[in-house]
Amino acid sequence: MNGCWPTFADLAAAPLDAVKAVTDPLGYHVRGTWLHRIAEIVTDERNGQLPNTLEGLLALPGIGRYTAGAVLSFALQQDAPIVDTNVDRLVSRLFNLRVARPPAALRGKRLWALAAALIPPDHGYLFNQALMDFGAQICTPYKPICLFCPLRPHCQWWNPPARRWRDLLYGSCLTDIHLKC
Ligand code: SF4
Repeated sequence: MNGCWPTFADLAAAPLDAVKAVTDPLGYHVRGTWLHRIAEIVTDERNGQLPNTLEGLLALPGIGRYTAGAVLSFALQQDAPIVDTNVDRLVSRLFNLRVARPPAALRGKRLWALAAALIPPDHGYLFNQALMDFGAQICTPYKPICLFCPLRPHCQWWNPPARRWRDLLYGSCLTDIHLKC
């Protein structure tokens, strides 16, 4: 997008169809419309400046907590949490957030609070990347590599009493882990 419309004003002035011609092939077709609307708002109401706070970003169309976190962390280099499915799984296991089956809203609140609290000051960008990669490569959905996981001593999902929940949910996966590794 940078090459086509390097500024918010350029993007706002572009025909919506031209924007969607770029974004629609990426999937999730409403994305182009939101992007165009955001460019209009930022241009007309914010002097061309994207908000740099969570609240400001969440007020824009199509921006939820995840996207706001990604903008704050990756684009603006702030120590803001990002919870994607990989981070959700990793943090939920580490702190055993699912064990008492809390309401989704409460679990989500704890999840985001923990993801924020874990960030080492001034290292949010790298830490968030590492957390996502760790969840994708080590703490995987079905065969997490627990035996070789450096977080194992701290992991409530691995250690009793959470371990019995793990075995109930996934079976005794030790054999699978040995085979995998
Ligand atoms: S010990 Fe297993 S469940 Fe816990 S963080 Fe490591 S890979 Fe994930």
